[in-house]
Amino acid sequence: MLVFSPLVRERMLADARQTFPDECCGFLFGTEKEDGSRYLSDIVVVTNAKEGDKRRRFEIAPKDYLAAEQYAEERGLMLLGVYHSHPNHPAVPSEHDRLAAQPFFSYVIISVLDGRIGRVRSWRLNDARQFEEESIAEPLPIEDKATHAPFVAVDNPAHPSTC
Ligand SMILES: [Zn+2]
Repeated sequence: MLVFSPLVRERMLADARQTFPDECCGFLFGTEKEDGSRYLSDIVVVTNAKEGDKRRRFEIAPKDYLAAEQYAEERGLMLLGVYHSHPNHPAVPSEHDRLAAQPFFSYVIISVLDGRIGRVRSWRLNDARQFEEESIAEPLPIEDKATHAPFVAVDNPAHPSTC
């Protein structure tokens, strides 16, 4: 289970909104309890390194991963996850996301529809390198609750994201 600090959640969703219609991405840091639950207490927004169309793909440069590892070490935190947005697509990982994913990390995907936050879901690779959903402690998002319901209908695994 993932638990977001309110500030981390706020900054992640703000990044997703502001970067629309491109994909945003960044790192999530925190601590992991013995029961496997993860408390996310820090965030670093990353520039989408993908050349060309950033609406369909995100890419984090190797130097950004190294910088994130160092950032975590300096603060006594763990690099626990990567978030990115799916502009006008459901919060479901694409095949590209799966192939690019590493074990251990939580992959948080934020669906953004016409600039508004939709669903936020988290995914982790299992031993067969398939994504399994990881629960998020609080219902997300808080700010756009009034517009939440229509986006649930859009988030249909029958129409997987291409991003
Ligand atoms: Zn994606």
